[in-house]
Amino acid sequence: MNNNLQIYNTLTRKKAKFEAIKPPHVGMYVCGPTVYGDAHLGHARPAITFDIVFRYLMHLDYKVRYVRNITDVGHLENDADEGEDKIGKKARLDSLEPMEVVKYFTDRYHVNMDQLNVLHPSIEPTASGHIIEQIELVKTILKNGYGYEADGSVYFDVEKYNKDFKYGKLSGRKIEELLENTRELAGQEEKKNSFDFALWKKSDPKHIMHWPSPWSEGYPGWHLECSAMGKKYLGEKFDIHGGGMDLLFPHHESEIAQANASCGHDPVKYWMHNNMITISGQKMGKSLKNYITLDDFFTGNSELLSQAYGPMTIRFFILQAHYRSTLDFSDTALQAAEKGMQKLLKTVEVIDKLTAAATSSVDISKFKAKLYDAMNDDFNTPIAIAHLFELSKIINQVNDGKESLTKEDIEIVKNLVNVFVFDLLGLKEEDKSGNDELVDQLMGTILAIRKNAKLNKDWTTADQIRDELGKLNIKVKDTKDGAEWSIG
Ligand code: ZN
Repeated sequence: MNNNLQIYNTLTRKKAKFEAIKPPHVGMYVCGPTVYGDAHLGHARPAITFDIVFRYLMHLDYKVRYVRNITDVGHLENDADEGEDKIGKKARLDSLEPMEVVKYFTDRYHVNMDQLNVLHPSIEPTASGHIIEQIELVKTILKNGYGYEADGSVYFDVEKYNKDFKYGKLSGRKIEELLENTRELAGQEEKKNSFDFALWKKSDPKHIMHWPSPWSEGYPGWHLECSAMGKKYLGEKFDIHGGGMDLLFPHHESEIAQANASCGHDPVKYWMHNNMITISGQKMGKSLKNYITLDDFFTGNSELLSQAYGPMTIRFFILQAHYRSTLDFSDTALQAAEKGMQKLLKTVEVIDKLTAAATSSVDISKFKAKLYDAMNDDFNTPIAIAHLFELSKIINQVNDGKESLTKEDIEIVKNLVNVFVFDLLGLKEEDKSGNDELVDQLMGTILAIRKNAKLNKDWTTADQIRDELGKLNIKVKDTKDGAEWSIG
């Protein structure tokens, strides 16, 4: 494959030419969501970052197998193997079967990703569907001597591993520092060292999700799922592993350790991490009351927002920063992004109206190289967007008669804008008014069907319609003469 793509590798801390292990194939694994709550910006950024990587690699004619998992088991509240399983806790609080929680939030996540125009991954495996593979991996690690069993749980022996392989190569953390800095937590006495992590945990009586294993009735450790599923679908060594910077340690560091302990070598050639998002300069968190879900953005339903923002504004805003930079969300910054994006999309309409001239007064030949250079420079979308704005300015000047372009040049410009704005950056027109009208008509049809069902005393169908709409955040209220609906 002939390309000039440079990727920053978190493992080597260097930008280097991208060379696939087995071109034209590329295997890419990205850590997906833990599905116990609504998706927020922290979900949108990695999804959009690796959507760009996926789109661009395919544009370069690679055949990409993109695996993005759903974490539906084993992610405890505290990364030090403490606390309740996040999904189990939600299920207990809401008196639901854990898989009901998983289905509900996975569906909502998918709706949000479609709204953001994020392409579907090639495979979307779940941790709960790969318990057997995870148990097999634990067996191999134990056989190789890098794990130990303690009262039905199995832990990874970090100290032993560090003697044979270097632990901490991704995060730069040293085992001596970890020894000093990790405090002993209650209930961790069975570990040799506080930094050892669970491969398998024996479940205590209140843990709802558990499976039989050679060691105990229990559940796999969080880091194990990505190692097991990455290996299953992409092989023992694959090209790209991505995720948010918050996953670098301990999650990805542990994945590297598990792979070396089981296969004797690193699992991944290029590690890529997107940086974090802050809200008005503050870290985002439920306790900080600055927690805005994607649905909140789309409906404007938050005290922190003066208006609703369309999914494309969110996408454009995220792409205006390089994925390795931090990104600060604020209402004013979003308003600016919305204006900028609309201006860019308006240009696309203008191109079709341009009148060709006999000669071109501006040289547009350099733009193609500039746009590809930006994408080749570790997916530098803000620079690509800046060039698209320059191009947009020229298009408007031609439209105003201040500059001129030949028919051929207009075709080149049109092609570049289509490829970069729509195919690679993944933006699309948001025709609000048209959509609203269509939604009104669709809702009218759906509620008419429900009304008929009720007249026929088919309560199952009537309730199903109401519940399914509820999942889309559409509330149906029965009134004297039928039903009313509202979003949010
Ligand atoms: Zn993961």
